[in-house]
Amino acid sequence: MVSFLESDIEFLKGVGPLRGQALRKELGVATPRDLLLMYPFRYIDKTKFQTISSAHPDNDIVLLKGRIISLEKIRGKGNKARLSVIFKDESGFIELLWFQGIKWVEESLKENVDYVIFGRITVFGGRKSMSHPEYEEFNKDLEMHKFLEPVYSSTEKLDKLGLDSKGRRKLIKAILEKISVQDFGENLPAYIMEKLNFPSRFESIQWVHFPKDEAQKLLTHNRIKFEEFFFLQIKMLLHKNKRKQLLKGIVLSTIGENFNTFFKDIMPFELTNAQKRVIKEIRSDLRAGFQMNRLLQGDVGSGKTVVALMTMLIAIDNGFQACLMAPTEILASQHMKSIDSLLVGSGVKAAFLSGSIKGKKREAILNMLADGQIDILIGTHALIEDKVQFKNLGLSIIDEQHRFGVAQRSKLWKKNDTLAPHILVMTATPIPRTLAMSVYGDLDVSVIDELPPGRKEIKTIHKFENHRPQLIQFMHAEIEKGRQIYVVFPLIEESEKLDLQNLQLGYELLLPHFPPPKFQISVVHGRMKSQAKEFEMERFVQGKTNIMVATTVIEVGVNVPNASVMIIENSERFGLSQLHQLRGRVGRGAEQSYCILMSGNKLSAEAKERLKTMVATNNGFEIAEADLRLRGPGEIDGTRQSGIADFKLLNLVKDSQIITTARHFAEIIVEKDPGLDHLEHMRVKNYLILLDPKFKDWGRIS
Ligand code: ADP
Ligand code: MG
Repeated sequence: MVSFLESDIEFLKGVGPLRGQALRKELGVATPRDLLLMYPFRYIDKTKFQTISSAHPDNDIVLLKGRIISLEKIRGKGNKARLSVIFKDESGFIELLWFQGIKWVEESLKENVDYVIFGRITVFGGRKSMSHPEYEEFNKDLEMHKFLEPVYSSTEKLDKLGLDSKGRRKLIKAILEKISVQDFGENLPAYIMEKLNFPSRFESIQWVHFPKDEAQKLLTHNRIKFEEFFFLQIKMLLHKNKRKQLLKGIVLSTIGENFNTFFKDIMPFELTNAQKRVIKEIRSDLRAGFQMNRLLQGDVGSGKTVVALMTMLIAIDNGFQACLMAPTEILASQHMKSIDSLLVGSGVKAAFLSGSIKGKKREAILNMLADGQIDILIGTHALIEDKVQFKNLGLSIIDEQHRFGVAQRSKLWKKNDTLAPHILVMTATPIPRTLAMSVYGDLDVSVIDELPPGRKEIKTIHKFENHRPQLIQFMHAEIEKGRQIYVVFPLIEESEKLDLQNLQLGYELLLPHFPPPKFQISVVHGRMKSQAKEFEMERFVQGKTNIMVATTVIEVGVNVPNASVMIIENSERFGLSQLHQLRGRVGRGAEQSYCILMSGNKLSAEAKERLKTMVATNNGFEIAEADLRLRGPGEIDGTRQSGIADFKLLNLVKDSQIITTARHFAEIIVEKDPGLDHLEHMRVKNYLILLDPKFKDWGRIS
């Protein structure tokens, strides 16, 4: 028999077929349980009235108590009617307005009765009004005065069917009356409940809808948020454990000639302490006997490439091949060049593969790869094609992870027949800690949090159009000093044509100020043939051109240490992490570098905040935090497919304390009791099985 909570919502008293269908369609609610798990998005404190004279448009929702003075239907333009009601309390008057459902409101409002109304205040021409307020008769005995009243998100269709907040409250009440403790058995260990002073799960499901007061609401929300993150983390950590047990890794324990020669004779600098620490962490993964799955985070310019190379040399020293995959052709070929130059004098053979390498050349590379003559393969996502077969791949490195999906990552695992190769994921887009725990909770994380010595902080300046003459002067001065300059234009798909015109125009406006042959300007954008693009890039890399006018194709990875100025046109149109990436293209040499953000005068509040953040800090982690705050987690690259934006109550920005606590407990539990066999963890295990019956089997692996 189906339990009440799992029964068809249609059969709940007061629902019926019509509303049942609407609930399914509009909210995806099929059962009473589904409805219970749709929490209110706000609560109204019906014990706190304001007065009309003190109420303010900035207040969230205002609750007033008073009487109707007059009621008038007004015909406006186009025969559109509105209902104007004058409402009075002891402090003054306010106009209530309805534009829809007028007839119904008109008939239901009574004079000489005390009403409670709530809604948002607007002020127009110095007069306060409220549009479409909710209202009900004031009744001293009503139990509504004993709790915060829940407000549910609704749709027009549901409103019309009487399933607005008021209607929903009734249904929720009816459901709550029918359930018992068994329906919401405890799922958190008693010691956590005690330590964090949480209400029981059964209490929470009631209180989340009808909290008695602010304190109870807070406590309940904390518990539910904790649960949301805790179980996600338990699952991720168990998954990580399982992977470590299942995916026995290739043991790369030898530090051999290639590594040592590079370290002692070839490497042109000392490693930073952060680089040393990270290499140590990687080494201990490689020899541990399970597959490495490590995320390497490091701000732009922090020196990830050399870490990648040294990791690959370890693989080679142990008789394996390695590959390095980058998201764009330009970036991949830059990697190829810098790694090739670092390999001069060593016997290591590196090769390049991308979609543009075809025919005989491609075949030769594939053959040499299959018989092991190539040690390192560098390229684009062409590397994951099935035709690309290694002799014995021991290590895959993925640069700029946010461009690749999780599916592509796992495709690289399968490139070796017997054992999965080790995986190192590198990203230059720092991820806020809370987000990293959610998206990469099953990876080990290493951070390079130190830049190589001698770098000068990049100076970032925000300028408007009227400063263009000074900008041109400044560019001349820098070129005079022998420096090179990037000028970047936005390019987004929706307005691609217009954007390319902008870039062309920008180039034409620069030309008279920097006339050839004395000055040379390169232009690069995504619409060019890749050969032409390469040619122009190469001219800039070699210092033959002074200015590079480009779209964001140069966003990631490009390394021209002599370039010291990054001018970003229409900077208000870029996202924060993109701006930060672009800025990272300069400041790579010993010279003072500059990033100049050009923008129009009209800026949205958010754009202003972005540019302000850029001017204020060079720290990638701070930028990432600001980005998360401004955009919300759902918009951050790579998070959507991971489903982490799906929390109901948890907020990755505001709830970092809860997140840290939940992660902490999850770590302790999985470490001490990886089988969740202790009595006190039975609840956790049973709940996981309830969520996903497949979980029953996870413990069997050993
Ligand atoms: P990213 O982390 O952005 O990929 P790169 O690996 O491209 O950074 O390194 C940026 C620059 O810093 C390169 O020119 C590289 O040679 C240089 N570099 C890397 N590590 C060091 C170091 N320890 N000391 C000095 N320069 C370094
Ligand atoms: Mg890089």
